[in-house]
Amino acid sequence: MGQKSIEILKQTSINIEELVEKLQKAYADECLSYIQYWEGARFPVGLMRSKLSEEMQEHAEEELKHANWLAKRIIDFGVMPIVGPHEWLKRSNCGYQEPLDSDIMTLLEQNISSERCAIEVYKQLADFTRGKDDITYKLVIKILEEEVEHEQDLEDIRNDIERG
Ligand code: FE
Ligand code: FE
Ligand code: MG
Repeated sequence: MGQKSIEILKQTSINIEELVEKLQKAYADECLSYIQYWEGARFPVGLMRSKLSEEMQEHAEEELKHANWLAKRIIDFGVMPIVGPHEWLKRSNCGYQEPLDSDIMTLLEQNISSERCAIEVYKQLADFTRGKDDITYKLVIKILEEEVEHEQDLEDIRNDIERG
């Protein structure tokens, strides 16, 4: 980030260190979320198997994209994004739910709960940056929109299965 951008941020009441830590934690969530979908997409069994697998692959790609956007923003602050899965796990908000149970309903529930956690994280980040850091605010709103869509996609599939 250039001198002027930093100057503008420093004029607001935002705590930059706290902001970067929040971005790091969200970044860790996205890395884990990417892997959770990527692994889960391989073995859903049961009704709607291929539909869910396809949706999960798509979501995996979107989570990876979110991770890249966040990494770029963290680097803007001159900070290195958290390296490696051990640290991601330690510092994430939402953790990692191993897709060990290939039952489609279990997979759906796991990923719906992860999406709900993500929605809370970005809502909080939006509140933290609103009116202070416009660029981060715009970024987290863009991600929030996609997390809301992810939750909806998974709930739709679950409802279709429940209706039979
Ligand atoms: Fe995401
Ligand atoms: Fe998501
Ligand atoms: Mg989708």
